[in-house]
Amino acid sequence: MAGEPVEGTTGSLLATDPATGEEVGPAFGLVDAAQIEAATRAAEAAFDAFRSQSPAERGAFLRRIADNIDEIGAELTARAVRETGLPEARLEGERGRTVGQLRMFADVVEQGDALQARIDPALPDRLPAPRPDLRQAQVPLGPVVVFGASNFPLAFSTAGGDTASALAAGCPVVVKAHNAHPGTAELVGQAVARAVADSGLPGGVFSLLFGGGNEIGQTLAADPRVKAVAFTGSRAGGLALMRTAAARPEPVPVFAEMSSSNPVVILPGALTGDAAEDLARAYVGSLTLGAGQFCTNPGLVLVPATPDGDRFFAAAERLVSEATGQTMLTGPIASARTAGADSLAAEPDVDTVATGSAGPGPNALAPMLLATGLKSFTTRPRLQQEVFGAVGLLVRYPADGQSAEALADALAEALEALEGQLTATLHAGPGSEDDAVVVRRLLPVLERKVGRILFGGWPTGVEVTHAMVHGGPFPATSDPRGTSVGSLAVHRFLRPVAYQSVPDAFLPPALQEANPWGLNRRVDGTVAPAEDRA
Ligand code: NAP
Repeated sequence: MAGEPVEGTTGSLLATDPATGEEVGPAFGLVDAAQIEAATRAAEAAFDAFRSQSPAERGAFLRRIADNIDEIGAELTARAVRETGLPEARLEGERGRTVGQLRMFADVVEQGDALQARIDPALPDRLPAPRPDLRQAQVPLGPVVVFGASNFPLAFSTAGGDTASALAAGCPVVVKAHNAHPGTAELVGQAVARAVADSGLPGGVFSLLFGGGNEIGQTLAADPRVKAVAFTGSRAGGLALMRTAAARPEPVPVFAEMSSSNPVVILPGALTGDAAEDLARAYVGSLTLGAGQFCTNPGLVLVPATPDGDRFFAAAERLVSEATGQTMLTGPIASARTAGADSLAAEPDVDTVATGSAGPGPNALAPMLLATGLKSFTTRPRLQQEVFGAVGLLVRYPADGQSAEALADALAEALEALEGQLTATLHAGPGSEDDAVVVRRLLPVLERKVGRILFGGWPTGVEVTHAMVHGGPFPATSDPRGTSVGSLAVHRFLRPVAYQSVPDAFLPPALQEANPWGLNRRVDGTVAPAEDRA
């Protein structure tokens, strides 16, 4: 914590291997209220020193974290495999993604556009009144609490996307470790703490806390020194943190990524020839990837009730029957999947189409495929809700003998009934005029509902790039204006400050006349590269 290891005072926590149910040492001490407050006080005390770093210093700090994580090497992967049940190859890839996104944020910080520097020079001769000199730049919000996600123990946990983007913004971070992978969290936490020390920063720039139950999270969200919360997990957990943050004397933003069923619409023209079998194979691959434990798992697929659609349906049924379950992250997550799938299967008009085989161990649940009709789906919100895991719902829609316009209206009505989503995917036949009519009708509906629209492909892969959006209207997230993946994520932790008639010597470097950080600045409304303004 704040660069120093602390002894937990309220008990300890052991990891559980979800593949066997065995406990895994060592024990991690759980902090008490005074220790939580010490971490947020240290974060507050570190804020001014941290935020005054130059872009080059902040970039070097982020790169140091990435280098330190790389240095841990195989020990980190082995520990994460043991604690999560995820395969080694997946975790190796996730480690690459984690260090890759830290380095991407280093690039973003060094390049400096996130500061959005704007200068409206004074117009002393303007009539009827002169205009004052006005300058604007982004400043960090202050200490941020990050809740590590269970399903990305590296890329969305201790030094994952939320932490990397908050640090990139210049916000000290207090991480509430996810109790499903404490050893992984500790190894990464040490790597970050070493980078803090080696960069000459105060220890309060980063703390990692272990706590039992909801109390620590609630205490952190209510702490007056905390200025924002970032969370990935359940809808209930996200909502609880939103309520706490909103009820504070000084309410603060919560960026919670919660629940999404990621609808996929397969249009008739996409299923011709061999496409039905190929699409079904890709669908079941995406549905069962990582035991279905992705926020972008394709939980809903709308497929036409046509002979081609029947072939897709039969292939998906066969492939799910042949699939074997993989170990889920924790016992409670597996139990929640069982309860969610049972309750969905018990709904009227929902049929269980296929059940695969359970894998070895207590938490490797059999993948499941369910089906319903378009009318039931459109009118019963319960059928849209996410079941976290490899459980798919196929929605059959009538398509034969209908005009493209009538089909477009029926599908638009179904999509209008959806809650906010992270993604929606359209599969349309190349060159199909009828599909094109439907696509044009659905796109404006989807733009209102989701954060990322895919044309072809499957939503489970989320690239970490500048154009990526991993966000969307509630309940996909608590704030649809941002993203938790990609470089735009940094903006969640920044706010604008305007400086009016402030003498150059008192301005932050981003806004000084000499432009010492070489930023691209918007001068009088026009963006011009730094070199053109020298
Ligand atoms: P979770 O129960 O929401 O927990 C996530 C983190 O938030 C944990 O550190 C937890 O602390 C804390 N927390 C939860 N409820 C809280 C509350 N009321 N007040 C304060 N802190 C709270 O998520 P999970 O354990 O990872 O998985 C449970 C379910 O969440 C899954 O079955 C799945 O449905 C969903 N989930 C969704 C996604 C997604 O990407 N959409 C990802 C992961 C999980 P403690 O553990 O210490 O209580």
